Amino acid sequence: PSPPHQPDCLFCKIATGDVPATVVRETDTTVAFRDINPQAPTHILVIPRAHYPDAAALSAADPAIAADVLREAGETAAQEGIAETGYRIVFNTGSGAGQTVFHAHAHVLGGRGLQWPPG
Ligand code: 5GP
Ligand code: ZN
Repeated sequence: PSPPHQPDCLFCKIATGDVPATVVRETDTTVAFRDINPQAPTHILVIPRAHYPDAAALSAADPAIAADVLREAGETAAQEGIAETGYRIVFNTGSGAGQTVFHAHAHVLGGRGLQWPPG
C-alpha cells in the first residue's frame, strides 16, 4: 500500500495537479516535470506519485517504484534529446547535500557540458 499524500508536500500537490507544473511525461506511478529553476538547458524532475522523503526511503519501501523512477529518468532524457550527448541523474539526499524538497525526486540534467565533481 502506498503512503498517503502529505497535505503540506509541494511535490504531492504537483503529483495530484493541485499545483501546476510543466509535465513532460506521466505514468501510473511517476510524474516528470520541468524544474522551476533550471540548472542546465534540460532540467527535469522525476517523482513517484507516492510520498517518500528521499530516494533511500523510496527504494527501501518500494523498489519497484524506485525502478520506475529510474526508468522514467532515462526515458525522459531520450525524449528531451540529451541521451546522445550525455546527462546526469541526481538524487540529493539530506539537507547537507542540497535537498530542499523532502519528496523523493530524480534530477535529470543535460544539454550542456557537466563537470565532475559539481562543486
Ligand atoms: P532539491 O534541492 O530538493 O534536490 O530539488 C528541489 C528542486 O525543486 C529544485 O531544483 C527547485 O528548483 C525545484 N522546485 C522547487 N519548487 C518548485 C516548484 O514549485 N515547481 C517546480 N517545477 N520545481 C520546483
Ligand atoms: Zn510528497
